[in-house]
Amino acid sequence: MSSKAAISFEYFPPKTDAGRDKLLGETTAALQSAQPSYYSVTYGAGGSTRDNTRGTVLALREQGLDVAPHLSFGLDGEDTILGLLKDYQQAGINRLVALRGDLPSGTGGGTRLVYANELVAFIREHTGDHFHIEVAAYPEIHPQAESYESDIGYLKGKFDAGADSAITQYFYNVEAYFYFLDRCAALGIDKPIYAGIMPITNYANLARFSKNCGAEIPRWIRKRLEGYADDTDSIRAFGVEVVTQLCQTLIESGAPGIHFYTMNQAQPTLQICTNLGL
Ligand code: FAD
Repeated sequence: MSSKAAISFEYFPPKTDAGRDKLLGETTAALQSAQPSYYSVTYGAGGSTRDNTRGTVLALREQGLDVAPHLSFGLDGEDTILGLLKDYQQAGINRLVALRGDLPSGTGGGTRLVYANELVAFIREHTGDHFHIEVAAYPEIHPQAESYESDIGYLKGKFDAGADSAITQYFYNVEAYFYFLDRCAALGIDKPIYAGIMPITNYANLARFSKNCGAEIPRWIRKRLEGYADDTDSIRAFGVEVVTQLCQTLIESGAPGIHFYTMNQAQPTLQICTNLGL
């Protein structure tokens, strides 16, 4: 593995005390062996996980780890966001993932969500250069985008507002990622765009997520996964093999780094990192 490719791990805030203990304990201890640059913790737009995200972030920080909270306005006002920014600054956190987010269905009808470029500008206005700001990027294009060009244009807008780097939505089509990087470069984007990678552990969940977020599961992968039916061991083994190969190609072809959507499981992310020689 190239020593230049950075890796990072994403968590979601656990819903139970047992889940929290496991995540902060054995899961993080295991993942630490891969020496990630940082951990990120997702945020339920609409504030549904506000306290839980904050609590998880601060607990990881207390372990001396670099952590990047995800953040979006959702339906919250400026005071709430400023409060979170202040808490994070005081805890020594200097990295954020800034998003528009999505509202849970049934909430906020008719409300316009604050676009990520507006959140980035807001963070810069109130905290200057304190935070390294990551934003989201979509090699297979955001499901609500008007067009390929407009979506890349809005990504450029996030960088122009002050973002430092981007993390992609997960994908299994390497060509889509490198074509996207070329199009971004042609538009003058010169900041790193890290590849977001989702290990494969459960076909039904993966198919559902992918439909919602516009990530394509190539037919040959889908067919193999469908063929395993409920045989979770085979799904996991095949998933590790495919995703290791994907990461290997990404690194060899010059991806600046990989952000793993761990789904709060040390395995199989750790197995993939081990296969890559970390
Ligand atoms: P934006 O960049 O604001 O884009 C949203 C849509 O609007 C796009 O279609 C874009 O083309 C368009 N657009 C962008 N800017 C403008 C503008 N100024 N004017 C008009 N149109 C515009 N979701 C969560 O709920 N919690 C999380 O923690 C979370 N973490 C994520 C992390 C990563 C790395 C990624 C890739 C996604 C994450 N998501 C998360 C999902 C994300 O919230 C959704 O994909 C959401 O629909 C878009 O958020 P965004 O920040 O990309 O939005």
